[in-house]
Amino acid sequence: TAVSPFLDPGPRTKANSLAILQLSRDNLQPVYLQSPTGVHDGYAEGAVVNTRYGSFPHSTMLNVPWGSQIRASKVDTGSRGRKRKRGSGDDACREATGASEKDNEDSAAAANEDSAAGVKQAVADSSGFIHILPPTPELWTTSLPHRTQVVYTPDYSYILHRIRARPGSVLIEAGAGSGSFTHASVRAVYNGYPSEGQRKGKVFSFEFHEQRYHKMKKELSDHGLGGLVHLTHRDVYNGGFLVDGKSPEAEAIFLDLPAPWEALPHLSRRRPQSSTSADEQTEWVSPLNPKKSAYICTFSPCIEQVTRTVSAMRRLGWVDIDMIEIANRKLHTSRERVGLNLNFDRGVNNSARDVEEALTRLADIEARFREHAAKPRDGDEDMDSGDEDAVPAGKSSGPTNGSDGPSAEETSSGVPPWMEGRLITRGEPEIKTHTSYLVFAILPWSGRGG
Ligand code: SAM
Repeated sequence: TAVSPFLDPGPRTKANSLAILQLSRDNLQPVYLQSPTGVHDGYAEGAVVNTRYGSFPHSTMLNVPWGSQIRASKVDTGSRGRKRKRGSGDDACREATGASEKDNEDSAAAANEDSAAGVKQAVADSSGFIHILPPTPELWTTSLPHRTQVVYTPDYSYILHRIRARPGSVLIEAGAGSGSFTHASVRAVYNGYPSEGQRKGKVFSFEFHEQRYHKMKKELSDHGLGGLVHLTHRDVYNGGFLVDGKSPEAEAIFLDLPAPWEALPHLSRRRPQSSTSADEQTEWVSPLNPKKSAYICTFSPCIEQVTRTVSAMRRLGWVDIDMIEIANRKLHTSRERVGLNLNFDRGVNNSARDVEEALTRLADIEARFREHAAKPRDGDEDMDSGDEDAVPAGKSSGPTNGSDGPSAEETSSGVPPWMEGRLITRGEPEIKTHTSYLVFAILPWSGRGG
């Protein structure tokens, strides 16, 4: 059985499979690599990804090790002046990224070249490059086509840990939305055996919006995840969580719904009290594993939703109820080199003297770098220092202005140039909060096996 590239991408890219193109640090594009259809005028005709960094025919991205740098095509791939047509790489990309294509820090600078809706930059440009990465839930979350709000990595990593999703677990998810959480949860429950017989762990996902259901169904099949995710088109408030009348026997549940309290009665171990007398004629089947405690997380943006959810949980016998909010903050770490400002393009007062000074300093650094590289170090010629930040004994971690510290020259004589300077850490100016409140609870196992 073919394993999903999300679970085992193999060592190299292949045709008819998903890859994530990293255009720059925060700009990722998913693309389904296609085999070239033929060679014309010296270049492979077929799908091409056109970006502001140049044109990248799929043929140049096939069968290369994941993580490879791909150079922009040196030839005009024929896309200059060519009308965008369905099935071209550009379309494939846009379909894959949808309307949510993100711009990154380079986009402002590139905006001028990137006119005419991104078509013009199909001009051959051999200067640009991109990297090709294997699909992971994290990369998919940052590049997927948004059909709804999605759950992001800081939230889902914590959620999956708290609801104890692990290899072999059975997990219920509603609603599926854009599938961000689905991809992360399927990796968490997959037990590593590709063959159906040995495979354990499954996600039962529910979505009541018909179009989203169909898109998600196709996506799961394209990603080779159809066998591990059972997607059902249903309103779970009314229809509950059984699949073909049978219990999924779930032990982990994640509800990303506007009214989780309406779904909770169906996640009980007993028939909900609201059942009609007609319902009572039929046998009640719980979707939960009768031999395990069930761990749930609900994801709600408003505290009023949380209050109603918690009340329903208390009524229905859930215990250990608590609420968490994830406040994620990125820290940017870099080295600040005193006296060397190479930000020519960003500064406003770059005089010829600044440039001259910087060039002299660069030449100096280069010379010292060569000297450093050529010089054997006492006793550690064969050793590969794994710690980039380790500063030789007696040396400071960078130039200081203090009188008892070593001068910049002294410091740099034993420290490679990339380790010069003080380590600076900057936090994001604002903590991006919040995505949602996470309510966790446990429905204990009855201890009677049913
Ligand atoms: N967790 C998803 C992700 O990470 O991509 C996003 C979920 S989105 C915010 C909520 C989804 O719940 C929507 O797609 C909506 O159609 C679906 N939904 C709302 N009410 C539902 C119901 N009663 N039954 C099933 N799905 C429902």
